[in-house]
Amino acid sequence: MLVHNSDVAEIFNKVADLLEILDENPFRVRAYRNAARTVGSLSQSVAAMVEQAKDFTELPGIGKDLAGKIEEIVRTGNLSQLQDLEDRIPPQLIRLMKIPGLGPKRVKTLYDRLNITSLEDLKKSAEAGEIKNLKGFGEKTEKAILAELGREKKEERIKLNVAEEVANGVVNYLKRVEGVSEVIVAGSFRRKKETVADLDILATCKKGSKVMDAFVEYGNVGKVVAKGETRATIVLRSGIQMDLRVVPEASYGAALHYFTGSKAHNIAVRTLGVKGGLKINEYGVFKGKKRIAGKREEEVFDHVGLSFIEPELREDQGEIEAAQQGKLPKLITLKDIRGDLHAHTKETDGRHTLEQMVEAARNRGYQYVAITDHSKRLSMTHGFDAKRLAKRNEEIDRLNGKLKGFSVLKSIEVDILEDGSLDLPDSILKELDLTVCSVHSKFNLPMKKQMERIIRAMDNPYFNVFAHPSGRLINERPPYDVDMEELIKAAKERGCAMEVNAHPDRLDLADIHCRLARDTGVKLVISTDAHSVNDYDLMRFGVWQARRGWVEKEDVLNTRSADELKKLLKRK
Ligand SMILES: [Zn+2]
Ligand SMILES: [Zn+2]
Repeated sequence: MLVHNSDVAEIFNKVADLLEILDENPFRVRAYRNAARTVGSLSQSVAAMVEQAKDFTELPGIGKDLAGKIEEIVRTGNLSQLQDLEDRIPPQLIRLMKIPGLGPKRVKTLYDRLNITSLEDLKKSAEAGEIKNLKGFGEKTEKAILAELGREKKEERIKLNVAEEVANGVVNYLKRVEGVSEVIVAGSFRRKKETVADLDILATCKKGSKVMDAFVEYGNVGKVVAKGETRATIVLRSGIQMDLRVVPEASYGAALHYFTGSKAHNIAVRTLGVKGGLKINEYGVFKGKKRIAGKREEEVFDHVGLSFIEPELREDQGEIEAAQQGKLPKLITLKDIRGDLHAHTKETDGRHTLEQMVEAARNRGYQYVAITDHSKRLSMTHGFDAKRLAKRNEEIDRLNGKLKGFSVLKSIEVDILEDGSLDLPDSILKELDLTVCSVHSKFNLPMKKQMERIIRAMDNPYFNVFAHPSGRLINERPPYDVDMEELIKAAKERGCAMEVNAHPDRLDLADIHCRLARDTGVKLVISTDAHSVNDYDLMRFGVWQARRGWVEKEDVLNTRSADELKKLLKRK
């Protein structure tokens, strides 16, 4: 993933916060804050500067040490120093700082004076009226803290890509433990929800296996919450909670179904069982006291007269009825994808050249890739004007002349301007194979204005794909204010397609809107928005999202062959 200047600034600010809690030299603290400000206000991308081997020490307030750290963040997305600092401070204390009004200085005072290290401690002290007496706090602050704590904040959920990385790690680890046979992560992770709350792991093993001991000794364990014979709960240092349940082989399928959920789906299946005189739970399918099935998940569905329902569909949103009537969708798979229709190069904010991006797409067996660099409005990324794009088109013609069995599609990610016009003239858009059109500015327009803007853009005959249609960033930025149902209708009327942006930070369209688009007859495109050759790998997240929206191969344009696709996109 591309590291943005704001990411670097955020990390430096965090380092400053933690140094402050640790009572380090105030000059050091200030150096990090200044560096954060410098990087945050740079007009050039630090990622690009690293690529071009620019000297950061020429920037105000950046010495050799900080320059090295910027490079580390750009290359790894992280700063080892920050991790070291986080290891030295109770994680709860770091969370306290996120409460409005509690900066590092105040958190430190609370820790030093009242030994507050958790939200519970904080609540108790505030309720006991201990905080208002501390120097620099006062009654107002104490009230504000109580109000904030009373708001019952929802825990931030984990993005699917992070969950996947953690899940793969622990599954591989447990599989190596002697005597263990099956290990699988169930729950919303298996249903491929865009975010998950925790990881529910199921395992089967031979008698005497030390799998529970191994589990609580897993690397990065912050806390062992519970450990029994067949069940244990740990919290990793990153704050992610994991449950492990060891189940007998005879119950494995029933347990897998039960712990995959969702709750609503399980209730519906159980109710069907009751109607047929069966009891269904995590131990199996029972007739009276006798277990008649449970080893395999398919058996559970079988006994209530349902065909197998893919985990992504198990939300009690009509999948039970569809399974009864033999009308379940034949969900799209990763193998159906023939090309990526959203990819950037180094010419704007990507990391690799046109040739590298094309080569990597070919190497993964694709038939085509659309190169969609930014348009000129995004001046920070050095976006394309018409003249540069014409030159780019010539380059692509030359490349296509050399390639056999692979097409590079001429394209652009063109900005939708505030008045609904596109950022490049029709005369050049006409020359492209397709356009990918995006909102990258003015997120805060009132709904009516935002809708008019987007629909007006769709009126343009050269508008093909509406990219990341809601503009949301998961856990970071809410969608802009639009009526997605109306936009989907507008897209249908104008023959525009909608993107399912596969980037795990976006997953935009949302699952319900994928389904609505499909039901409305709007074609979808699943693209990664690749900013480097590795980003093509993100395709699976988009496919999962589409599967949650009941999407089939036929609903998606980039499952077509290059010839079919070009025919569909043919300019009038
Ligand atoms: Zn974009
Ligand atoms: Zn993009």
